[in-house]
Amino acid sequence: MSEKRVIVVTGASRGIGRAIAVELAEPGHQIVINYRSGVAAAQKTAAAVADKGGGAHLQPFDIADETAVKEAFKEMLKAHGRIDVLVNNAGITRDNLLVLMKSAEWDEVIDTNLKGAFLCSQAVVKPMMRQKYGRIVNVTSVVGAMGNAGQSNYAAAKAGIIGLTRSLARELISRNITVNAVAPGFIETDMTAALTDKAKESLLAQIPAARLGTPEDVAGAVKYLASEAAGYVTGQVVHVNGGMFMG
Ligand code: NAP
Repeated sequence: MSEKRVIVVTGASRGIGRAIAVELAEPGHQIVINYRSGVAAAQKTAAAVADKGGGAHLQPFDIADETAVKEAFKEMLKAHGRIDVLVNNAGITRDNLLVLMKSAEWDEVIDTNLKGAFLCSQAVVKPMMRQKYGRIVNVTSVVGAMGNAGQSNYAAAKAGIIGLTRSLARELISRNITVNAVAPGFIETDMTAALTDKAKESLLAQIPAARLGTPEDVAGAVKYLASEAAGYVTGQVVHVNGGMFMG
């Protein structure tokens, strides 16, 4: 990306979202760092973005809250005049076997991981159509393609993201807006820190690269999809998983 871009990354206070915000930061670019409640972590992301010469703006809101999303995007558009790139990254897990899963665990994961991406995408589509330019990158998961015992809510949301990506890609490519997804495998962040050593060992046995991924591994793929070089790439799912799944 050479021109000055306004880039919104949801869930950018920690983990993969922080790495994406930092990877996309460069002089002239404005990076909007969304998070829900972790302000200290978001400030660390902002400092890392500023170190790379990018403009950093904190924009806390709950991506699952329709009113909050509409208000936040209105504010961002007023402040920056345009949004060139949206990375729908924020996500949560509420793992349980289906027989034990409470409907609240199902709803929270679908509302944040799937509806949140819908709400944020809807908020940027009109301005992107007016600009005749846009890049939307959705963060899904290997689990959305493979399934995972104990994560039926999460896998359903992440598979839903893939359907959303492909449908929106078809709706928007005539307006020079691309919509793609990145599907990380198992990446070292707070989300996977909770795994037991036994669970990590069994995961490693499934990964030909014989290591978990880093947030930077994922950020590199997002950077490509957000770049000018990827203008003819749309509706795709780029798997970043050390060979664990080849889709
Ligand atoms: P993480 O370390 O747990 O960070 C989650 C981020 O999302 C935080 O910035 C958090 O902000 C934000 N967030 C959560 N709920 C939110 C909401 N309702 N509104 C706004 N922000 C919210 O997660 P991660 O591991 O980096 O995962 C990032 C994305 O990659 C997720 O979509 C996840 O499903 C996906 N993914 C992760 C892995 C992995 O192995 N880690 C693998 C595949 C896919 P607060 O702290 O303020 O709540």
